[in-house]
Amino acid sequence: MNFDVNQIRGLFPVLHQEVHGKPLIYFDNAATTQKPKQVLEALTSYYEKDNSNIHRGAHALADRATQYFENTRESVRKFINAKESAEIIFTKGTTESINLVAQTFGRKFIGKGDEIIISTMEHHSNIVPWQMLCEVTGAVLKIIPVHENGELDYQEFEKLLTSKTKLLSVVHASNALGTINPVKKMIDAAHAVGAKVLLDGAQSTSHLEIDVVGLDCDFMVFSAHKLYGPTGLGVLYGKREILEAMPPFLGGGEMIKEVTFEKTTYNDIPFKFEAGTPNIADVIAFDAAIEFIDSLDKKAIKEHEDELLSYANELTADIKGFQPIGTAKQKVSVLSFNINGMHPFDVGQMLDARGIAVRTGHHCTQPLMKRFGIEGTVRASFAVYNTKSEIEQMAEGIARIAKIKN
Ligand code: PLP
Repeated sequence: MNFDVNQIRGLFPVLHQEVHGKPLIYFDNAATTQKPKQVLEALTSYYEKDNSNIHRGAHALADRATQYFENTRESVRKFINAKESAEIIFTKGTTESINLVAQTFGRKFIGKGDEIIISTMEHHSNIVPWQMLCEVTGAVLKIIPVHENGELDYQEFEKLLTSKTKLLSVVHASNALGTINPVKKMIDAAHAVGAKVLLDGAQSTSHLEIDVVGLDCDFMVFSAHKLYGPTGLGVLYGKREILEAMPPFLGGGEMIKEVTFEKTTYNDIPFKFEAGTPNIADVIAFDAAIEFIDSLDKKAIKEHEDELLSYANELTADIKGFQPIGTAKQKVSVLSFNINGMHPFDVGQMLDARGIAVRTGHHCTQPLMKRFGIEGTVRASFAVYNTKSEIEQMAEGIARIAKIKN
């Protein structure tokens, strides 16, 4: 498919509705993206034709379901250019993937006095699991500061790296600001002191081409629902040798080779980390989401979204009282802002009355909001199906709202 935004919109039933009597403009894509027809059909088709438990059945439906489930694992492998599909573990989401690493890799390889580096712009899901780990192990959390424009302070990052650093866990693209971090450089620098690196790809995977081998990250985590796929499903990528060295996370069926009351032996990766019946339907439907993205080409997606972001920047630049938050040079399509004298929630409500869905608040990045001395922002985030005309309507709405106080 060539990049034809009208054709793309045709694939998303949810976009064709009115909200408060106005055509819906969906700009809350950093929270979750909408799902194309292929994904909805894959879900229905699985339940209508193939519903069965996987990996252990001796009948046709179980074989089919297993085959489709494992097909998705292979598609995810290709999507992020991992070496082998055994390095792809299905979880409930980015949050669970990070907790898994903290509770397995962390508890085994990070001890008292060791250091974990994260940044000021992390989502709470890349802060709290490390705090929990530090509490039980006595490890120390170090924080990379953020410049006024929303870029990481790279010099300070370099100063934090020492032989005590065991892990760098950093967001690839910020959900609150859109900043794309220089992760390749950071990974190389962390490896030079012997630390492992986890990349939070919750936002980057839908906008950027991902090559985990080229990046050489040790872990990468992301959520299907931000990638035009179903909710309740995430991915943990890890290098084989590290995953093999990690103890399991949850115990139960599927993650074992043999169970006796004396000693249980664990399954090989990826199954060692997939205890219990997984989210079969959503994994299968995720394949359709990946196919949808692949049909568009990541470069074309980035170009389209960059164009939307520059247009939004251009149209809002001269609005009196408009304060953009996060103006890094390298960004994914996130426009975070405040309007002088107005609470972000009120701005969000007024945009909603115009049919425009944005997110307001701290975006699960309270320390980052504190860094900027604000309670929250209004965040408009753009996806493949958004149009320049929608940006114009948002800019017009913002201009009218800003006039109330400016
Ligand atoms: N990390 C980032 C950068 C995010 O944007 C999000 C979700 O907003 C998460 C982590 C958590 O993802 P999930 O809620 O899907 O587990």
